[in-house]
Parts: sequence; structure tokens; C-alpha cells
Amino acid sequence: PSLEYEMTRRRVVDGVQELWYYFGSQLKQLKALASPRFKQLSERIDNILKEASEHKRALLMNVNRLAEVDGYGPWREMESLELSYLVQRRLHYLQNPPDCASAKKLLCNLNKGCGYGCQVHHVVYCLIVAYGTRRTLVLRSKGWRYHKAGWEEVFHPVSDTCPPVADPSGSITSGSHAHWPGKPNTQVVELPIVDSLSPRPPYLPLAVPRDLAPRLARLHGDPIVWWVGQFLKFLLRPQPNVQKMLDSTARKLGFQRPIVGVHIRRTDKVGTEAAFHPLEEYMSAVDEWFDQLEMERIALPLSGTLPDGAGDGNWRWNDGENKEIKRRVYLATDDPSVIVDAKIKYPKYEILGDPSIARTAAVSTRYSDSSLFGIIIDIHFLSMSDYLVCTFSSQVCRIAYEIMQQLRPDASNRFRSLDDIYYYGGQGTHLREAVLPHKAQDTGPGSPVGQDAVLSLEPGDLIGVAGNHWDGYSKGKSMRSGRVGLYPSFKVVDRIEMADFPTYAEVPL
Ligand code: GDP
Repeated sequence: PSLEYEMTRRRVVDGVQELWYYFGSQLKQLKALASPRFKQLSERIDNILKEASEHKRALLMNVNRLAEVDGYGPWREMESLELSYLVQRRLHYLQNPPDCASAKKLLCNLNKGCGYGCQVHHVVYCLIVAYGTRRTLVLRSKGWRYHKAGWEEVFHPVSDTCPPVADPSGSITSGSHAHWPGKPNTQVVELPIVDSLSPRPPYLPLAVPRDLAPRLARLHGDPIVWWVGQFLKFLLRPQPNVQKMLDSTARKLGFQRPIVGVHIRRTDKVGTEAAFHPLEEYMSAVDEWFDQLEMERIALPLSGTLPDGAGDGNWRWNDGENKEIKRRVYLATDDPSVIVDAKIKYPKYEILGDPSIARTAAVSTRYSDSSLFGIIIDIHFLSMSDYLVCTFSSQVCRIAYEIMQQLRPDASNRFRSLDDIYYYGGQGTHLREAVLPHKAQDTGPGSPVGQDAVLSLEPGDLIGVAGNHWDGYSKGKSMRSGRVGLYPSFKVVDRIEMADFPTYAEVPL
């Protein structure tokens, strides 16, 4: 398929969603204005919302179907396998130099004072810099707060030929040693955490390698998420005991698709780094996803409506099986009461989730072996789900979303975040480009955005994105005018950032 075709197809899906956010939010605001004085009007609005959501589902169903019947499915599958295989082979090549002693190395310490998600993202950042500098990553992880014996007991070592203790003197620091950025011939360069990295190299997220960017842009709705997912694929190869634990947990839970992964982050995060969101808000997004799936299961294929023999025979009548869908949720949280609450409030749902795992996630017990296994299990099953509902302010959910990209050619729109858009901690500016003009109207009581400032857009304008308000508008800063304000989300597209990474010509395509 052409790049334009794939981008347009994904655009329609995003557009339907944004249109729905817009009308949903506007109608709810109207309802708040109307009630309680105009009861009828308020009821009418509720009914419009209900009917319109069915319209939306039908539209989305048809676009989704388009991707199934356009004949490019096998290409998408192959392309995603080939791209992943290429990146994985490059990482293996980089990480396994035949002669470790003479190889240039990048030293990364797994001692960042933060949670598991944040630490894994730290290691991903180290490996990205390693890839960008052609230095073999050496991970120093003894005394890791989640597992004192180190990373290698949990996951496959990042290198088979270049272990953290690499020479007879018992130290990898032999040879010349320098702090970042070092010199080209420095043997070992030690990398600080991204927050204190200076100078910043061009290949930090959100950049993807220029040599892969054209293929990624065609394959995937958010290439940086795919790219980060590939580093996680290399890094999080479980040791046999961890794999065994995941397998037995899957059996115990009865993990089965279709299933929605829900992550509810509470305890220390709420009120400090993120706002509180009630269980109902998560579950209404889950309901919406299952309603969509149910419609797709019961709708007749369009060509199936032709008289006998006139159809192309490629679509069977729905045989009535699988119409009743068991609604399943994998619920991960650091607050055990959330799981208890969900089971009581949503009896029609099968809630998979373990309060005893959630208990190990509490701040007081968080940095221990049992908590480590708990968070590995939770991230694993969140990432195996068909759809994610969570807050992207949490690294736990962002990791699950990144890993999710390994399982499908493009899972970029399989999420609902109740707060932030996707980001990578320490990333460069996130830019979007206006594709349609927008004229800022006077704000005030009659304006859809009330008193908020609105940005004027000209096609080609670059906008530094602050966030999506999930009501049809996003907030950002116009690079042309320097102004900050709201703009209609559907008038801009993400800009894919590219950087010149090494191209690893030794690794055949
Ligand atoms: P963030 O603080 O939510 O951005 O994510 P971090 O991963 O950096 O730190 C939060 C830590 O809290 C995790 O690493 C876990 O140790 C714990 N935690 C948070 N949510 C969950 C959850 O849903 N399940 C489990 N098992 N642990 C969690």
C-alpha cells in the first residue's frame, strides 16, 4: 500500500474518535447548562448521546473492516516481522562483540531511585544510546533495589560475550574510562541518568532511525512506540524461572481473549504526579470497547446482503456463534481495594486480578522480590490484552503499551489514556504539524471552549504539544507565533522525528 493510503486509513479512525470526543464533551456541557430546569432537554441529550455512539461504532467498524479486506493484511504482518527481525539482529550484533576486551562500551547503572517502569525505561534509554554510539551496553545491576542479585537472574543478560565483570582484574573499568560523552577512542563511557545528560545526542526519543523511518511510517501509527517496544523485546527476555511463573499465572488466571487490560494507579502517585480517576471512568471506556466488538460480531457483511450467488463469496453470513461475548478485564493496580470494588460493582464482568499482587505494590513493600514478580506479571498481562485503559502518566502502563506493539503490526490506537498522551521520560520536544488552517474565534460564553485561548493555525505550522484534552481539543504552543492555546486535534498530525543512527551495514537486511 502507498504511504498516503496507510496514513489516511489510520487518520479516519483517529478522526472518528476525535469527532466523538468533541460531540460527547459538548453535549455533556450543554446538558449541565440545561438541567435541572429543563428536564426534557437533558433527557433528549442523553438519548442523542446513546444513539450517536452507535453511529460512531458503525463507522469505526467499517474502517476497521476496510483494513481487513483491502488485501494488505499479509503485507502488514510480513513487514512488521521483517522490521523487528532486522532491529533484533542489529541489537544482537551490537551486544555480542567477538572480543569484549577491545570493544567500546557504554556503562549504565541500574540504580535510578524510582519504580520498576521508570528503571526499565532507564535501561531502554541506555540501550538506545548504545545503539546510537555503536558501543556495547554493559549493565551494572548488582544491588538493584528490585532484586539485589541483579538483572541477570530475572532477564537474559544484555550481552553473552561482554558480562558486567569482563576481565580478570574483575572490573570493566580497565582501559580508558570517562563520563559521557567521552572521546571516540575512550574504552568505557559511563552514562548518567537522562535527566542530567549533557550534551544530549540527537538519537534520544522521540527520534527513530532515519534508515528505518520510511518503513515505520507506513507500517505504524506511532513509530517511536514501536521503536521503544523493540528495545523492550531485546531487554525483557525472561529467564526460565520467570517464564515458568508467567505461564503458570496465565493458567491459574484463565487468561483468555478478548480481554481489556486496565491499570489503575493509586497510592503515592495520586495527588502528587497524577489526578484521581474513579473506577467508573475506566470501566466506561472498557464498556465502549466491548460494545464495539459486539457490534462487529453481529453485523452482516455488506456483500453478504446480495442475493444468492451475487456476492463474491468471501464473506460468510455471521453464523450466530460468538455473538455473546464474555466481558473480561485484566485489572492491575497498586491498591488491592480497587480489585475488590470492581468485582462487587461489575458482576457481569470477569475480573482477572490478584489483590495479593496489588498488596506487594504498595509503597512500603514495593522494592522487593515479591513486588518484582508482581509488577512483571501485571505488565505482561496488560501488554497481552487487546486494549489498554489506564493513565499514561504512569510508566507501568506506558511500558505495557510499548510491549503491546510487539504482538501486532500496529497496536498504536489500542488504548484509552485518561490523562496524558504517550511520552517517553526525557524526550525532546514533541511536535505536530498543522494540515488544516484554523481561525481562532472570539472566546466567551458562546464559544465551544469558553474562555480558553485558542491558537490560529496555518497549514505547515509546527505545534509543540502539551496534551490532548480528549474533548476534541489539544493544547500546545505554536512555534510560529509563540502563543500557547487550544486547537482542534483533528487539524494537526504527529511529526515523525528522525535522527542519523548508525545503519549497521554488517547486519544484512
Ligand atoms: P509510575 O510511578 O506509575 O510512573 O511507574 P513506576 O513503575 O516508575 O513506579 C511505580 C511502581 O509501583 C511500579 O514499578 C510497581 O512497583 C508499583 N506499581 C504501580 N502500579 C502497579 C500495578 O498495577 N501492579 C503492580 N504489581 N505494581 C504496581
